[in-house]
Amino acid sequence: MSLVIAIDGPSGSGKSSASKGVARALGLRYLDTGAMYRAMTWWMLNQGVPVQDAEAVAARAGEPVLECGTDPDAPTIAVDGTDVSGPIRTREVTNAVSAVSAVPAVRERLVALQRQIIGTGGIVVEGRDIGSVVAPDAPVKIFLTASEEARAQRRARDLAADPAATVELTQAEQARRDRLDSTRKASPLTKAEGAVEIDSTGLSLPEVIETVVRLAKE
Ligand code: C5P
Repeated sequence: MSLVIAIDGPSGSGKSSASKGVARALGLRYLDTGAMYRAMTWWMLNQGVPVQDAEAVAARAGEPVLECGTDPDAPTIAVDGTDVSGPIRTREVTNAVSAVSAVPAVRERLVALQRQIIGTGGIVVEGRDIGSVVAPDAPVKIFLTASEEARAQRRARDLAADPAATVELTQAEQARRDRLDSTRKASPLTKAEGAVEIDSTGLSLPEVIETVVRLAKE
């Protein structure tokens, strides 16, 4: 397998910016697996599927057709031919995604698709279970963390257009999502065996990118 860089970690740890930066620096493709779980969740909500009902979600998990663009300068995600890059970032989707991603049928389908996209490599893949489940043989595995406050501040900045998204509310919603993602039965968020942990709290984005690039060149 040529180079695969797996970057896992909780929400707001800076995975997306770091992963895109590393892909650009090394001329690799980029895959945001969180966007795939969000797209599945957006589709379920759009179809009126009760997302807290795991059986109802599992029954429809095979239906939507997902397509991912892997250019780190312009990553895209489409469902049934419609670009949903914007709609998958709403608070409604964010607060429903953990329930949908905990459903084994959803994970089976998306992990298969992720492995297909990874193919023979040359890609930076970010998510929660990349180093542990999707690509356990990846030569570079990173577990990116940051303090809870730093993570909430980053996310609140991302959600600046939503007047309800204060740092406090974002921190509470994020803590809930991390708890659900870390305690679910199917592939919980965890540091993969062999992963290098990087705490980004006191680091600038270029410093995080530089650290990962250095590890990839070792
Ligand atoms: O990375 P992001 O915050 O966009 O991910 C959204 C959600 O998708 C996570 O909270 C988690 O529930 C789910 N996810 C997952 N496995 C991945 C990536 C994301 O379960 N590999």
